[in-house]
Amino acid sequence: MAVVMKPDATEEDIKRVIKLIEETYGLRVDVSRGEFQTLLGLIGDEDKVDFDRLALLPGVDKAYRITSPYRLVARSFFPEDRVIEIKGVKIGGKNKPIFIAGPCAVESKEQIFRVAKEVKEAGADMLRGGAFKPRTSIHTFQGLGEEGLEFLAQAGEEFGMPTVSEVRSERHVEMVAKYADILQIGARNMYNQDLIEAAAKQKKPVLIKRNFGASIEEYLSFSERAVAQGNKDVILCERGIVPIGRGRQLTRYSLDLSAVPTIKKETYLPIIVDPSHGTGRRDLIYPMSKAAIAAGAHGLMIEVHYNPNEALSDGPQMIVPSELKKIIDVCMKIYELNMVES
Ligand code: PEP
Ligand code: MN
Repeated sequence: MAVVMKPDATEEDIKRVIKLIEETYGLRVDVSRGEFQTLLGLIGDEDKVDFDRLALLPGVDKAYRITSPYRLVARSFFPEDRVIEIKGVKIGGKNKPIFIAGPCAVESKEQIFRVAKEVKEAGADMLRGGAFKPRTSIHTFQGLGEEGLEFLAQAGEEFGMPTVSEVRSERHVEMVAKYADILQIGARNMYNQDLIEAAAKQKKPVLIKRNFGASIEEYLSFSERAVAQGNKDVILCERGIVPIGRGRQLTRYSLDLSAVPTIKKETYLPIIVDPSHGTGRRDLIYPMSKAAIAAGAHGLMIEVHYNPNEALSDGPQMIVPSELKKIIDVCMKIYELNMVES
């Protein structure tokens, strides 16, 4: 349910409505202040709410039920694009696309410093690197843990880039938030509502990747849980869905680029694309990056290593810094073309 306040509603009017919702119905309220009107979104089980009663309160323009499983993130509820600023880097709206680059995993201090230096020179805006890796097999490199986060933070500081790192478990949320500027929820954890809520409570931006089997409706519904914690700094990321068909799959996943304009219509949150996990193939990163920006993505997340063959994880999908530069240069041209059209 949403309550739209009249443009001339007073603070008293707004407080009265919030108090009634909280005290009478035991629900929480999300307050969105637009340029002209304030919108109140109800959070919780709203079956018993009498919206005719709410509509009669002073200062209320209208009160209506929303049947969609998500609403706080819905553009129909709040039309303005969300622009998130992280240490001077802006993501969302009509801002230039951001390029998040770095290795799949932080492997050593030397490795992350060298990658950071080279991706910065190539034009990257942010540095990525996993310290807690979600790996299929326990018999593989699992990440350096806290030490990896420390190296990532130091490299980000040294080369002036905000950092992104995955938080795989609720028990590491505070630790990852201590070092990283953005908390990544991996595709496998998109359905982990406790983890999403715990990460969102850290008051840092949260980057939630779409699960490879999730519909867009499910994806936005789980992202709604972060926003319901009072944290609207949520970045979405399309990273490929499970491919269909019986034959040998030639890509790791199917990058669903139609998700980009669909999600942009549905929500005001920024949406970026990860062509690395989305294809699993370094030779496809360049064309899919171009396509993602042409489709309107607010940025890209790309795995980069100076020597992909030496990488401890995801080597086949990693590109080298000189290729990243080529991608950034062409994507900026595509972005400018998009701006001329819009
Ligand atoms: C990652 O970005 O490091 C990662 C593991 O991606 P995903 O969760 O999309 O598989
Ligand atoms: Mn990876």
